[in-house]
Order: sequence, then structure tokens, then C-alpha cells
Amino acid sequence: GRKLEWAVNTPEALAAHKEINGSIIRTRFPPEPNGYLHIGHAKSMNMNFSLAFEKLGVAPENRRTIFRYDDTNPEAESEEYIDSLRRDLQWLGWEPERTTYSSDNFQKLYEYAVVLIKKGLAYVCDMNKSEIEIQRELAMKRANARNKGLDPDVEAPIPSPDILPGRNRDTSIERNLKMFEDMKLGLYDEGTYTLRLKMDFESSNPNMYDLIAYRIKYVRHPHAGNGWCIYPSYDWTHGTCDSLEHIDYSICTLEFETRREPYYWILWALDLYKPEVYEMSRLNIEYTVLSKRRLIKLVDNKCVRGWNDPRMPTISGLRRRGYTKEILNQFCDDVGATRSMNLVEMEKLFQTARLKLSATSRRAMAALTPIKVTVTNFDEVVAKMKAEGEDITYDVQNSPTDESMGSHTVTITDVLYIDSSDFRMVDDPNYYGLAPNKAVGLKYFGGNLFCDEVVAKDADGNATELKCHFDKSADRVKPKSWITWVPKTGIPCEVRVYGHLFDVPEPTDRWEEELNSKSEIVHSNAIIDPSVMEYVDAKHVDKWHSNPALQFERIGYFVVDVDTTYDSAKNEGKLVFNRTVSLKEEVAK
Ligand code: ATP
Ligand code: MG
Ligand code: MG
Repeated sequence: GRKLEWAVNTPEALAAHKEINGSIIRTRFPPEPNGYLHIGHAKSMNMNFSLAFEKLGVAPENRRTIFRYDDTNPEAESEEYIDSLRRDLQWLGWEPERTTYSSDNFQKLYEYAVVLIKKGLAYVCDMNKSEIEIQRELAMKRANARNKGLDPDVEAPIPSPDILPGRNRDTSIERNLKMFEDMKLGLYDEGTYTLRLKMDFESSNPNMYDLIAYRIKYVRHPHAGNGWCIYPSYDWTHGTCDSLEHIDYSICTLEFETRREPYYWILWALDLYKPEVYEMSRLNIEYTVLSKRRLIKLVDNKCVRGWNDPRMPTISGLRRRGYTKEILNQFCDDVGATRSMNLVEMEKLFQTARLKLSATSRRAMAALTPIKVTVTNFDEVVAKMKAEGEDITYDVQNSPTDESMGSHTVTITDVLYIDSSDFRMVDDPNYYGLAPNKAVGLKYFGGNLFCDEVVAKDADGNATELKCHFDKSADRVKPKSWITWVPKTGIPCEVRVYGHLFDVPEPTDRWEEELNSKSEIVHSNAIIDPSVMEYVDAKHVDKWHSNPALQFERIGYFVVDVDTTYDSAKNEGKLVFNRTVSLKEEVAK
């Protein structure tokens, strides 16, 4: 590419920067509060708070990261978003050196703009949006011709100097100072004037075509309040704030590569210290979208329950779904930093979750779509067991691999619930579950459950109630599988099972048609073992932090949802679970 002479710091600027920072190396994470943070931002945080320093070999004590609200677009921003950003960052465990707002620099940025006007490097322009677009197209055509060695005056002649270089470009400094002040004072209507930077219409980079530094907007700012009716652009603000905050490395995503030139041009024009800009590829994940603009549409169109819907790739959605900061940060570490386009499989995130959760989750038996089982010979079998000194209460470790997680007891009863996935009306030699006139092992019980009769079915012909008997005889058939069960003392609950938000791996602009209509399946009559009673109480459900993880044996990983009102003392209220992830990779249907 074109050499950026103005990207180089003078030795004096470098020395001054070194003087201030000493051995400190500083990065920043600058989200705009125009939506909630998503997992792409988690990757950016991981980079700016950790990975970048690792790569640069910066000692932990010398690492500093500023958390900056890049809030220059008051129309799109809100206090709700400002709060959510802070909460998500805290929850992920990152500790910024300080929190700043670009808008806190509005006065300074205004003064810098005056400096550039005085240098003859900025001017007030009355061209409207479409005129600026025409100007830009023309400059691009001329640059293309020049690059091909053709004559731009032949290929793309300039019809009028009003268009290129533009009728306002060579106006007097006095006029521009006066008009810029009048813009600030609110003497002009929205859309009438902008402040533009006198850059380079001969550049091949359209981001050098006299970018807008200020526009008029009669909008209250969510952080700065009512003081301003002109607002600085992203370009005018970003590099300037980086420099003011003594940032060493300004890391952004690749689509900003062409903004590097104006970034340095502005700092050159203002004679400010120039941080080093690095671009990394954006994180993209299959079957979802990582862009606030598109996520907003899902929320506004009520395609989901809100920003924290467990199907959303937002930090708040993932948190509600049971993803911990350890899972998210491990995932970001594994994805790493690259400059190549990366579309990561959702399964990679799932796999990371399984690995972490298998070690930390507490086990419990549950049935999502329960079938009621009445055990006809319960009393007889239990009497015999008791006579032989056998108990019907079993001590079960909360984690089979980690004794320190303690244990709970499960007690078998004369009425049980099994999951519908463990029963079929018609048996099959390759099927190891329960069917009429067939036996299956019952986990912990150490004996068989034999199905004698289907007592009731639902409208679709699926069994809802069975009559079975226990078989603990010495010559019973050896079962090919051991199914889980819930005693009659189980707690009724609602279980929400999530699939992909979209049907296609890479959603397009026709995203509405691509939404997965089965992305949330609600099991409203689920039941769970009572051993979790205390554990799933609503008082433990911290609305902003991870809830304790459960593994429903043989089913998957679950957390208590924030919709829960369950009160264990009274054993009443609504108990809702979200499925974090299935136990094993699910084969696409
Ligand atoms: P969005 O399109 O989601 O609004 P953005 O880049 O406009 O993304 P910002 O709030 O400005 O969002 O982002 C703050 C920081 O997070 C920026 O440095 C940006 O580059 C980075 N970032 C945002 N999305 C991703 C992503 N998908 N992968 C990696 N980094 C990202
Ligand atoms: Mg942005
Ligand atoms: Mg954006």
C-alpha cells in the first residue's frame, strides 16, 4: 500500500509518550453503547485485556486497558446500553485501568477542530448527503483511472468545481471559524452544514475524501446531556481519544483497515502522538449474527425474548443460558487472533462448554417429557429388599469424578417418571430403551423395570402412562441400558431447550426467512429429582451472574432461568431451566 508518512511519530512525540507511560503498555476496549455486548466483543476484550499483552510479552504488572464508551452517536445510544456494557465487562472479569467516555472529551475535540480550521485543514461545508456521495463517486472514478495509468480528465471529467473539490473547500479561515461556532451555538438546522477535513481527493482511499468531523444533531446525549448540538464523527473522535489516553496499541477489526489512513492523518494534522493500529479479523460464528445492528432487529421485532434471550449470542444471553466467563474466555483463547476471515463452528463453543461444565456441574435426574410409571409390585419388592437389608434410598455423588462436590440421596417410589425418549411403543433390536413387554435397567436401583401395559396416550399416540413391575430376581434378563427416573416427590418444572437461532450457517440480509422456528422448545411439564430443592431456589438465582450448573443425567447441562420464582421452603412457585448445551454433539436432523 501507499506509505503513510504521517503515520510515523516524531522522535520528540515518542520521547514524550515514553515519559508519560514509562514501562506501561496500554490498550483500550472501546464499544459504542448502541446495543448489548456479544461474543465478538468478548473476543475483543480477551484480546485487549490479555492476549495482546501475551503476544507482546508485556509483564502482567505493566498491562493497562482502558474501557472506553465510544459514544459519539447519541441517536443510537442509551443509558440502558451504557449500564449493560459495564455489567457484562465486569461479569467477564476484566478490570479496566479506568472507564472513560469519548463524550467527556467533547470540549477538547471541539477545540482541536478549531485548531485545524486555523491551520486551514478543516472547513464548514454545505453539501448535502447526496452531493457528498456524488463527489465521492467522482473522486473514486478518477482514482481508478489514475491507478490504471489513464487520464482522469478523460475517464471521469469534473463537471463543476462545485462538486470536486467542492464549493466550500477554499473558503476563508475566518468564515469557517465563525460558521463552526454558529453550528455549535445552534444557529443552523440539522443537515445544513458539516465540518469537513481537508484531506486528499486524489487518494485511492475513499476514507481520505474530506471526511466529516462534525454534524449537527438536536439530540440529547445519554452521557453528556443537553450541552451539545454538534457531535464529532467516529473518525474525528477515535484516534484523538486514543492519543489523549496514551494508548500504545489501538486494536480494531479488519473492516477498519481503510480507516487507518484518516486515523493517522488526523493525528498528524493535530500534531498528536500516534498509537500503533492493529487490525484483527472479526469473530463470526455459524448459525448466528454478531452485529449489534442485526441483533437490535431481532429484539425490536420480538423474534426473541429480549437482549438476554438465551438464544442470543450476547454476553447477557449466554450468561442466562449458563455459559460462564471461564467458558467464554477459554473459547476466545482457543479461537485466537488472526487476520484471516474466521467463521467458527457453534459446536466449538458447545464443546468448550461441555468440557468446563462436566467438571463443575452437579448431577440430578430429570425427565423433560415425563411418562408416569406405576409400579404394581412395589410394596412386595421393597418388603423383600428391606428384609435382605437393602435400602431404597441411594447415596449419589454430586459429581462422579469429584468427591469434594458432596453427595445427595435419591429415593425410589411406587410411582416414577421416566423420560419419553426412553420409551417406544414399538421395540426394535437396535433400541435399548423401554417398550411394552420389555425390561430396562433402572439407574441406582440395581434391578429391572418391566413394562406390562400402556395405560394412557396423548392425542399423537405417544404413551403418557405405563404400568410396570420391578424385577430384582436373580435370573432376570441383563438389561442393555440403565435409564434415569424421577420419584413421585419430584419437582415440576419448565425446561427450555434451545437450538440455533438461524437455519442457515451464514445468515444473509433475508435473515427473517432464515430464522429457525424451532429455536426454543419448551417442555412445560418436566420434572426433576427433589434432591435439588434447596439448590434451585429463586433466592440463589442471581439475575446478572451465572447460576449454578446442573447436569441432568443422560440429558445435558442446565441452569435455573431468571424467570424462576420457586420457593423451596414452601415448595411452590415456578421453576424454569435453560438447557446450556446437550451432553453430546447433536446430529443435525
Ligand atoms: P457491531 O457491529 O456489533 O456493533 P462494532 O465493531 O460496531 O460491532 P463496537 O461496539 O464499536 O462494535 O465494538 C467495540 C470493539 O469490539 C471494537 O474494537 C470492535 O472492533 C470489537 N468487535 C466488535 N465486534 C467484533 C467481532 N465480531 N469480533 C471481534 N471483535 C469485535
Ligand atoms: Mg463501532
Ligand atoms: Mg456497529
